[in-house]
Amino acid sequence: TPPVITIDGPSGSGKGTIAHRLALALGFHVLDSGALYRLLALAAQQHGIQTHNEAALEVLAAHLDVQFQNNHGEAMLILEGEDVTESIRTEEIGAAASKVAALARVRTALLQRQHAFREMPGLVADGRDMGTVVFPDACLKIFLTASADARAERRYKQLLEKGFDASLAAILDDIRARDLRDSQRAVAPLKPATDAIVLDSTALGIEAVLQTVIAAAKQ
Ligand code: C5P
Repeated sequence: TPPVITIDGPSGSGKGTIAHRLALALGFHVLDSGALYRLLALAAQQHGIQTHNEAALEVLAAHLDVQFQNNHGEAMLILEGEDVTESIRTEEIGAAASKVAALARVRTALLQRQHAFREMPGLVADGRDMGTVVFPDACLKIFLTASADARAERRYKQLLEKGFDASLAAILDDIRARDLRDSQRAVAPLKPATDAIVLDSTALGIEAVLQTVIAAAKQ
């Protein structure tokens, strides 16, 4: 079976950047599992399904019509034939994603889809439960954290760069609420796998984290 490296952590910790750069360095595939929850949240919104309707969301998750396309090295996400690469990145969809992600049957419905990304020569899987639930047999598990302030600031800059309207205070509130929901939920709560290497990108910075992870991957 192809090797898997998992990068888990809270939103804004830099795991998306690390996962992509690591995959590029190793020539591995990438799974952005958060995007799956965001796609589901957007699909639910478009179909008028509420974020607590577990039965309907389970069906939607099992039949979700999505394609991950490679657009000159950038992931392009197609939902029901429509390019939603940018529109799933809003704070609103992030919050809705974290609500649908708390439902056990939704998580189970998305499991197979995530396993399907495991292909030769290997996979870098980015998420919350990659090392604990989805790929417990991963050969390297990283848990990346950063202070809530540092993460809020990063997210704020990203949103401004993408041309979205943003408020730093609102983002910090949102990050705290999402951290709480993600770490206290009953199913697949956000926590490091027992065999994960825990890194804090607040002081280290993304470049240093990347070098540490690449070195660990090459061992
Ligand atoms: O990483 P991202 O911010 O895109 O994830 C959106 C939401 O999806 C998270 O707040 C989390 O609740 C959920 N998620 C999850 N498990 C994953 C990835 C994301 O529950 N593996």
